[in-house]
Amino acid sequence: MRLTVLGCSGSGPGPNSPASGYLITAGDTALTLDLGNGTFGALQRHLDPWRLSAVAFSHLHPDHCADFTALVVHRRYHPFAPFDATAHPLPVFAPAEAPDRFARAYVASAAELAETDLADSFTFHPVTDGAEAELTDGVRLRARAVDHVCEAYALRVEHAGIALVYSGDTGPCESLVDLARGADVLLCEATWPHTGVWGEAGGPPRGVHLSGREAGEHAAAAGVGRLLLTHVPSWFSAEELLAEAKGAFDGPVELVAPDARYDLG
Ligand SMILES: [Zn+2]
Ligand SMILES: [Zn+2]
Repeated sequence: MRLTVLGCSGSGPGPNSPASGYLITAGDTALTLDLGNGTFGALQRHLDPWRLSAVAFSHLHPDHCADFTALVVHRRYHPFAPFDATAHPLPVFAPAEAPDRFARAYVASAAELAETDLADSFTFHPVTDGAEAELTDGVRLRARAVDHVCEAYALRVEHAGIALVYSGDTGPCESLVDLARGADVLLCEATWPHTGVWGEAGGPPRGVHLSGREAGEHAAAAGVGRLLLTHVPSWFSAEELLAEAKGAFDGPVELVAPDARYDLG
């Protein structure tokens, strides 16, 4: 299984990275986890988008799904499509509101919305807490609901004995630890520092994001092999969040970077 980072800038694109998006390849199967702002361009450096087997979304904030609109254009209007996209609709694993939200993001007007149905090129599979799906080549996808400001999921991808868990966006929660238990890699958001910016609140707000320290704590509680930190916004120090995570997790920890590849076995 190989992980390629398409973008890792938290909460929106930054000066050096698109927003959140990751490519997982295993055998002949290619799956994206989120497609935030700018990631569809990055994807094309690493994979012909016609080779995608499926796309999955942790939640429907634009920094995780805005470039679905570019994928729609690519599948509908590419002049040299290698096959008829309507005969081979691409599976989309996403929260239940995705067909409506994605159609609204894609169209330019209410009139166009009235006659837009993305089901011509995509097959939507609503993600729910505990949902499991088998993709091609024995790649398995599992989801657990996590604690964000909207419906949101952490996603676990398994293939040939290797497991990667992606946190999506979440505050501290047991379900992320459950899903990540024993995984080889936890690709985990770390959006803000644990101290220093919260004034009288004393600590970060609940139910939104993880601090670097909390990402490390979740990795330790789940007993993962390796922690990859992501989703650091441009306005916080990534090195500070890395130091926090290292203080809470004894295993290998690093910050991901755009276009980085990890061969996981
Ligand atoms: Zn986000
Ligand atoms: Zn979010």
